[in-house]
Amino acid sequence: MRRASARPVVLVLGGNDPSGGAGLAADIETLASLGCHPAPVVTAITVQDSRDVRAFDPVAPGLVMAQARAVLDDLPVAAVKLGMLGSAACSAACAAILEAHPHLPLVVDPVLRAGGGGGLARGELAQAIRLLLVPRAHLLTPNRQELRRLAPEADSEAGAARALLGAGAGAVYVTGTDHTTGPQVVNRLYTPGETLELPCERLPGGYHGSGCTLAAAAAAGLAHGLEVGAAVRAAQDYTLRALRRAVRPGRGQAFPVRLATDREDQDD
Ligand code: PLP
Repeated sequence: MRRASARPVVLVLGGNDPSGGAGLAADIETLASLGCHPAPVVTAITVQDSRDVRAFDPVAPGLVMAQARAVLDDLPVAAVKLGMLGSAACSAACAAILEAHPHLPLVVDPVLRAGGGGGLARGELAQAIRLLLVPRAHLLTPNRQELRRLAPEADSEAGAARALLGAGAGAVYVTGTDHTTGPQVVNRLYTPGETLELPCERLPGGYHGSGCTLAAAAAAGLAHGLEVGAAVRAAQDYTLRALRRAVRPGRGQAFPVRLATDREDQDD
């Protein structure tokens, strides 16, 4: 039998998206294709298609905690990734679970809305994430809209990222399109010591599950022992490849192709 550590376990807590484009399906595909074993904990059931969200229901916090504890008590978890939590109560449940595992690398993707615009948050979720989870996060992966919701007092991207570092995040990786035009989008990795600019190709159209893919890929890098900067660079490269191969299976956004077959690779 091969060593289990060759395939590190990543605990992912997120919502189920029945279209398979985002949420836990995206996490599972990403982690499996990057040589990790995904352990998925369901935090919410969503009703959505490739266009937008129609409804969602958070799972009871006690049941979220029980799922996560079952994994943590049994498997050698190497990293944790939080995606859609849905409610402030679920954020509190996650914080309580993580209290017993302060050294596990933690990636927090502060999901508040779907790419189609539909809300994926109840109550004061942004505030709960900032208060309870940002201080524990080794890496926070907000897009520019999420960054504004997490640090509404700041008047610039850099100011907001610094506020979150001040609240205890180890690093803040800000992604997504901005007000600029041109062939590139600039993602930035803010750490207490420096700010790294990570430009990437501006791709046309909208993608469902790109943020989930990126955050899960960063968690895979941390689980394999990479430093946060190297994990983020590798995650950005992986996500860009998945977006370049994207397909449009429904009537809405395109889905990243995260588990490429040989045929799809030849099409690159
Ligand atoms: N998690 C779930 C369950 C979702 O349904 C979505 C979007 O629909 C997301 C996360 C965030 O998706 P994206 O990666 O497109 O930001």
